[in-house]
Amino acid sequence: MVKDTKLYDVLGVSVTATDVEIKKAYRKMALKFHPDKNPSEEAAEKFKEASSAYEVLSDADKRDTYDQFGLEGLSGAGGMGGAGGGFGFGDDIFSQFFGGAGAQRPRGPQRGRDIKHEINVTLEELYRGKTSKLALNKQILCKTCEGRGGKKGAVKKCSSCNGQGIKFVTRQMGPMIQRFQTECDVCHGAGDIVDPKDRCKSCNGKKVASERKILEVHVDPGMKNGQKVVFKGEADQAPDVIPGDVVFVINEKPHKHFQRSGDNLVYEAEVDLLTAIAGGEFAIEHVSGDWLKVAIVPGEVIAPGARKVIDGKGMPVAKYGGYGNLIIKFTVKFPEPHFTTEENLKKLEEILPQRTPLPQMPKNAHVEDCVLAEFDPSKYDGRNGRGQSYASDEEDEGQGGEGVQCASQ
Ligand SMILES: [Zn+2]
Ligand SMILES: [Zn+2]
Repeated sequence: MVKDTKLYDVLGVSVTATDVEIKKAYRKMALKFHPDKNPSEEAAEKFKEASSAYEVLSDADKRDTYDQFGLEGLSGAGGMGGAGGGFGFGDDIFSQFFGGAGAQRPRGPQRGRDIKHEINVTLEELYRGKTSKLALNKQILCKTCEGRGGKKGAVKKCSSCNGQGIKFVTRQMGPMIQRFQTECDVCHGAGDIVDPKDRCKSCNGKKVASERKILEVHVDPGMKNGQKVVFKGEADQAPDVIPGDVVFVINEKPHKHFQRSGDNLVYEAEVDLLTAIAGGEFAIEHVSGDWLKVAIVPGEVIAPGARKVIDGKGMPVAKYGGYGNLIIKFTVKFPEPHFTTEENLKKLEEILPQRTPLPQMPKNAHVEDCVLAEFDPSKYDGRNGRGQSYASDEEDEGQGGEGVQCASQ
């Protein structure tokens, strides 16, 4: 059934051992071979092996993987499920059972980090499309040494850490066994060693250099806020790393007059009362750069808050072509007070529909006559939750808020 029994053999248990049996076996080994109890090199080795075996067999997922694929299953990108390689214990356990130096670890290369930039665009630019040239300072592999850090053949893999640049240390901390990852003390984390005289002069052995690159970002007509323009593999280069992507994220700047709703545009149009009732025209400066002259048909009667649509005057529809619609939300500008001369009001009374009569109030109802005062929004901004209107039980607070003032009849 199981591919390989080595880890079970190390702990001296059968492949069908329960969690409790495995724990007991490990504890027995730890007591016997722990460096504090048994300072011999052989014991240290046994203790390390037992710890590694226990680490796998005490974890249901890892044990499962090991049973199916053996040690190889626990090592490398595939087995550890670790995209980006990383340094899981798999590498360590692999080296413990197959000898650190020289063991080829089937590890996938790491993937570098993506670089993200916001690109600010206006609605006009999103309508027409735009190409921006953006300069990027990035890290590239040194061209002189092709990222080796020195002359060809002069760079040797560090045998102490097997080119990983890091080492694992197991330490006992009270009842716990802790595993640390430390920088390799031989190569100082570089993973390889080069004689100073063979070191690359251009990059001083660093393997990388910086480069300024111009990227042309095409913002297609109709692109939306948050959409991404991706340059694959254009992020920083480093030895043995698959470069990440450079990602530009569209940030749509707010527009003075238009709001966007998917592929549609929303425009708030103010028309005067006469135009709203008797018809007329108004004009819109569109994000396309054109002007739209819009007719209101006499007799249509545009009420404040009414919505109408102009077909095909929204944003371009990316990929599929065509255009969204333009939704117009109306506000109606009422005449200034000087319009309300006695003569005009008389005319209006003759023309406009009759006033809506008051509702029938119960005969015994208490009715108050009220007068409207000016509204000052700054006093009703909601900070105190109820504005400064009077509450009937707080009359002694006296002066203050403008509101509806009432007089009992
Ligand atoms: Zn170089
Ligand atoms: Zn090293």
